[in-house]
Amino acid sequence: MIDFAIPADLAAERDRVRRFVIDKIVPYERDPRLTAHGPTDELRQELVELARAEKLLTVQAPESLGGRGLTHIEQAVIYEAAGWSTLGPVAMNCAAPDEGNMFLLSKVADPDQVQRFLAPVVAGHQRSVFAMTEPDGAGSDPAQLSTAATFDGENFTINGRKWLITGANGAKTWIIMARLASNPHLPEGPTLFLADGDEPGIVIERTMNTMDRNYVAGHGVVRFDNLVLPREALLGEAGQALRYAQLRLAPARLTHCMRWLGAAERAQSIAVEHARTRTAFGKPIGEHEGVSFMLADNEIALHQCRLTIWHACWLMDNGEKARHESSIAKSFVSEELFKVADRCVQVLGGIGISDETVVEMIFRDMRAFRLYDGPTEVHKYAIGRKVLRG
Ligand SMILES: Cc1cc2nc3c(=O)[nH]c(=O)nc-3n(C[C@H](O)[C@H](O)[C@H](O)COP(=O)(O)OP(=O)(O)OC[C@H]3O[C@@H](n4cnc5c(N)ncnc54)[C@H](O)[C@@H]3O)c2cc1C
Repeated sequence: MIDFAIPADLAAERDRVRRFVIDKIVPYERDPRLTAHGPTDELRQELVELARAEKLLTVQAPESLGGRGLTHIEQAVIYEAAGWSTLGPVAMNCAAPDEGNMFLLSKVADPDQVQRFLAPVVAGHQRSVFAMTEPDGAGSDPAQLSTAATFDGENFTINGRKWLITGANGAKTWIIMARLASNPHLPEGPTLFLADGDEPGIVIERTMNTMDRNYVAGHGVVRFDNLVLPREALLGEAGQALRYAQLRLAPARLTHCMRWLGAAERAQSIAVEHARTRTAFGKPIGEHEGVSFMLADNEIALHQCRLTIWHACWLMDNGEKARHESSIAKSFVSEELFKVADRCVQVLGGIGISDETVVEMIFRDMRAFRLYDGPTEVHKYAIGRKVLRG
């Protein structure tokens, strides 16, 4: 039987999360430690401790690591509530890229790697990165990977350059994608490696200046300069990086949808309040059809986005990979929610583009959502190919 009802205990937890974010986290949105390069580590740690005190830290993690092992549907409900503020997921340790990295490591890392690289991230003590995208190689097409690894039977040596690497500056757990060259010991091809961010071969060239500022430490340009790693640094099997990346990406792209849905709802609530109270031409602007239709379009979009997310989650909770459905969800939700944010700016009039309300920040931060974890066109390319295959 298909059932859309949210169980009472999950609804209560959702409300508790929303209250926590509104009461404890929203006040930090004007903290100077929320910089042009995202929240600083100091701010993140302060927020994490607030969530820890409320037992709301890393609730999605497997129970074996101290989390509650939430299902995908449960995540959808909780992350939507956390997303009311872009700092909510940072506090609760369910923001990108850590959330997707924890998921991947919980599936692929061996017990020693779990203790060294995953457990401290789950505990909120350190951050992680996923280093795949390159200026002259992997991007929409990860198969173009150009960062190179060699193996002499004892150590790997990695050389190459990456950019747009979220959280690079200050992260300790590094998941690095590089192309392993032909060697007599292991299969060649795209491979994942685990490294400590303090390795001298990891050089952060700079933090990029981007229009978003919701991700801790922003996005880095990174060079691997003869990065030497031991055999134990191999994550999963050699030559399988693209398969593991897919394992990470399907749920990770959905969790982006969940968090941004919460942010878009917040923008809508501010636009609705403005439409009720601001007057023009003798009545509240919300009573002009042009405005009420914008708010109605938002309501329709928010509802459709939630259903699309829930359906993909439901498939995954029933053991499906849901690659196709998560592609549909990611492309649809990112495009629709950005339109919602844009209409909210419009309803607010001139103040919509100012920091008088948080709508401007949501609009700016959300723009990148249409690009990361697969630009809309790349998802449509995959969906189109599947449609044509029949
Ligand atoms: C805020 C942000 C954070 C990010 N964080 C990380 C991170 O932590 N780690 C990491 O490895 N990467 C990260 N990325 C990189 C992200 O994964 C890439 O931006 C994305 O995969 C697209 O690659 P690209 O930027 O190289 O674009 P390109 O591959 O150069 O593509 C440019 C454009 O070409 C079009 N295009 C490409 N292929 C097709 C096609 N088949 N059909 C139609 N159109 C197409 C699309 O419109 C696309 O936007 C981040 C990006 C952003 C914006």
